[in-house]
Order: sequence, then C-alpha cells, then structure tokens
Amino acid sequence: MKNFNFYNPTRILFGKNSIADLKDQVPDDAKVMILYGGGSAERTGVLDQVRSALAGRTVLEFGGIEPNPRFATAMKAVEMIREKEITFLLAVGGGSVIDATKFIAAAAKYDGDTWEILTSRGSVIKQALPFGTVLTLPATGSEMNSGGVITNPEKGAKLPFNSVYCYPIFSVLDPEVTYTLPTRQIANGVVDAFVHTIEQYLTYPAAAYVQDGFAESLLRTLIDLGPKALETPENYDIRANLMWTATMALNGLIGAGVPQDWASHMIGHEITALNDTDHARTLAVVLPSLMNDQRGPKREKLLQYASNVWGIHEGSDDVRIDAVIDATCGFFEQMGIKTRLGDYGIDAHDIDHIVTALQDHGMTALGENKAIAPDDARRILEAAL
Ligand code: NAP
Ligand code: FE
Repeated sequence: MKNFNFYNPTRILFGKNSIADLKDQVPDDAKVMILYGGGSAERTGVLDQVRSALAGRTVLEFGGIEPNPRFATAMKAVEMIREKEITFLLAVGGGSVIDATKFIAAAAKYDGDTWEILTSRGSVIKQALPFGTVLTLPATGSEMNSGGVITNPEKGAKLPFNSVYCYPIFSVLDPEVTYTLPTRQIANGVVDAFVHTIEQYLTYPAAAYVQDGFAESLLRTLIDLGPKALETPENYDIRANLMWTATMALNGLIGAGVPQDWASHMIGHEITALNDTDHARTLAVVLPSLMNDQRGPKREKLLQYASNVWGIHEGSDDVRIDAVIDATCGFFEQMGIKTRLGDYGIDAHDIDHIVTALQDHGMTALGENKAIAPDDARRILEAAL
C-alpha cells in the first residue's frame, strides 16, 4: 500500500425529508446564494423544500447552470456574489451544479485571472467561500469530494481542478428526490460511479486489501441495483443504496493508498469537449477499450475483478479477461448506454482532434503508471471506433 493522507470534512445528512435539516447547517447570519441548473429543481419541488428550510434568511438565487457547466456562466455568478457580498453558497442539483459551485466559491475569492484556477488544476486556490450541497443526482461523488470539472467551449476545453478548500461543508442526500430522474440520467449516474470505482481499483500494483474489498462491494452493488433502479424508479431502498454507493465511489476512501488511473476520464473529457456527449457515455466507450489495451500491465487486477466482481473463474487468463471486458460492456449496454465511438457520431477523423486536445491540455502521461502517452490514447480510441 502507498502512503496516504486521508481527509474528508464533509458532513452527510442522509435520508427521507433531510432537506429540512439544512436550517441547522447554514450559519444564521449568512447571506446565502442558492445555485441550481436548468429548471429540474424548480419543477420537482426540491427548490421549494430548500426555500422553506431557509425561510427567514437572506437568500439570493442563481439558476441556469448547464450540464457540463460553463466557465462564462460560473463567472456571472461570481460577479453577482461580489456585488451582493454573498457569504455562503448552496448548490442544489447534480454534479454539474456542484462542480460549478466549487469553482465559483474559489473564483469569488481569487484575485487573479480566474481561468488560472483551471490551467493550474486548482493549485492556485488558497481560499474559497464556504458552501453546502443538496444532491439531486447520484453519480459524480462531487457532494463529498474536492474536485470539479469546468467546460469552456470558446477554448474547446473541459478541465478538472481540485483543492482542499473545495470540500462541501455539508451535503444533503435525500434518495426520494432522485425519483424524478429520467432513465438516461440514472443510467449515466450508475456508469459514472462504476467507472470512478474502476479508476481506483483496476490499477496495479496496489496491495490494498481493504480498499479492494470496498471497491468490489460498490461494483457489485451497482451491477445488481443499476438495472433494478431503471425498472422500479420509486423503490426507496434501491435509490438509497445507489445514492450512497455513488458518494462512496469518489469520496477518497477507496482511493487512499492505491495507485489511481483516471485515463478513461481524461480521454472522455476531450470527447465531451468535442461534441457534448454525456460524461458517463464517454467513459462507457473508453474504459472497455482501455481495459483491453492495458491487459498486460493490468493483468493481475483484471483477473481479480473477473473473479471477485463477476464470478468468472474458468479458462485461461486471456479467456477470463475477454469475458470480463464483455461482461462490463454488457452491463453498460443493459443500462442503455452504447459502448462504441460511432454510436456518438465520432469517426476516425475526430480522433486526431481528441489526441491533439489531450496534448494541448498536458494529458500526455496518463494512467496509474503515467504510461499512456498520446499515441496510446490514439490506439485505445481507434479500437473503440
Ligand atoms: P448533471 O449534469 O448535473 O445533470 C444532468 C441532468 O439531470 C440535468 O439536465 C439536470 O437538469 C437533470 N437533473 C438533475 N437532478 C434531477 C432530478 N432529481 N430530477 C430530474 N432531473 C434532474 O449530471 P451529473 O452526471 O451529476 O454531472 C455531470 C458533470 O459532473 C460532468 O460535467 C462531469 O464531468 C462532472 N463530474 C464531476 C466529478 C467530480 O468529482 N466533481 C466526477 C465525475 C464527473 P437541470 O439542469 O434542469 O437541473
Ligand atoms: Fe466521472
């Protein structure tokens, strides 16, 4: 196991009717800005629940944060925060609203050009406004981690950032608010959480037995409950378990002391930057191809994954690895998510663009061993056509 420094200060308020408990978490004297997305929070009544919980406080609202949140929109919020002297932010939404809120919290306190927050991957952040979240879409883990991803279409960029100042102070997770999610977003969330787990589990060498056991349990839960969540949208226990699984997949716990990959995410971000394909769908394309391409370095872990997650025990090493890659693709397809680049309108010509973008964004040594160079990414993408 590698040395690690594990820190996670986010309080989780989990369960039915937990949105009402916001009142005890937001400081009494705060000037609050509620941030939300394109209108689902208004339509589903979640915003009303938040408004009632904060009744009597000084509250301003900022809506219109896009999926794959945009830099320009975030900067509009920053301007309003500075003008109105807002002291506390409350994100109400999925990963996009939460990621944008993290960026906004840091940008509002940043003196220089806020684009530097992204080009430095967050290292220039030295402070941020305090913020909490009300999660409406289990997927990203953003509600209990310190990272975010911001898109700037003018620059053709979707860039990640991370800072210890960007942990939410608290996150409210009420599984009942996920009942209104469209099938497509449930499927996306399950696949995103699955790939987050894999990025921290399917790496070698690790020798981190507790983390492996947790990761395998998260993967088995997603495989079991993902399809059931599509069939029975209002089953509380299914939604509750999925919600907690997605949070646990990326709150630092299973990633402590293990080598982390993230190549599928970094390559996937460039696909989204190119044509706005849903984040999870880019992962469902890249991950199986990467598993196949990296079957040498990842052999031991692929075999453990086959055995402990899928119960595949028969055949030679390569037969079992082929079988587990097929099973992984089959699971994504069962969730209604296609696994080839062509399914998302991407052809061989676009691969040049994606590989150049990876180079331009400094993504030239990806994977747990920094061994995936742009030519390797090209090979992985070509095999996924
Ligand atoms: P999302 O982009 O936040 O939301 C997707 C859609 O779902 C939106 O159209 C939203 O509508 C709708 N929605 C949300 N909650 C709903 C509900 N309860 N009922 C009905 N509709 C609802 O999706 P996401 O998958 O959570 O976030 C994706 C973003 O997170 C990507 O940019 C990705 O790169 C990033 N990400 C971040 C991390 C991290 O660790 N920070 C990790 C992985 C991915 P409205 O806009 O109308 O609300
Ligand atoms: Fe993700």
